[in-house]
Amino acid sequence: MIEDRGHFDGIGLTASGFVPVFGTTSTTQIRRSALAVATAPEPALRSTTASVAWSIALSPLVVMGLLAAAMSVRSEIASGESVGVMIVTAAFFLFFAGPAIIAFAIVALLSRENRRIRRGRPIGYRLWQAAWFCHRCAGCFWVSAPLAGLPAQQLMAPHQFRAMVWRAAGYIGGRPK
Ligand SMILES: [Zn+2]
Repeated sequence: MIEDRGHFDGIGLTASGFVPVFGTTSTTQIRRSALAVATAPEPALRSTTASVAWSIALSPLVVMGLLAAAMSVRSEIASGESVGVMIVTAAFFLFFAGPAIIAFAIVALLSRENRRIRRGRPIGYRLWQAAWFCHRCAGCFWVSAPLAGLPAQQLMAPHQFRAMVWRAAGYIGGRPK
């Protein structure tokens, strides 16, 4: 399949005009043809960078939540009140630790999805490589079934083909792109 890769360095505006900027502004852009996307052998991996960064940034709040909960319990005991101790303590803890817990959960979910994609890769690529694309019919087909249950010599629209490969590889649940 066709994949165009382009490399772009940034350009900065200074008093002396436009100058190329090196280093952090350098980005690699991948542009993929509509056909390459429609027949992609696997979903794109989910980026966990942002959610990991949030988890690290918010993790001190978990400690604060624990401290707040501990202080809540202590003051409740000191004042002799026991009604609602559990609720107040839990509320204190969740108020601080809640955002961090959500960030941890997002990291876990994205990682699980990426693991599923990596696990399915060998079979996904095998099925994808065994297939043909007919430019005249604009469809995909397998000459012989590469796996039991997959159709042989049956023309499929690219999106149907991709759905079949993704399902066989166990990517379902992965983000369609
Ligand atoms: Zn054809």
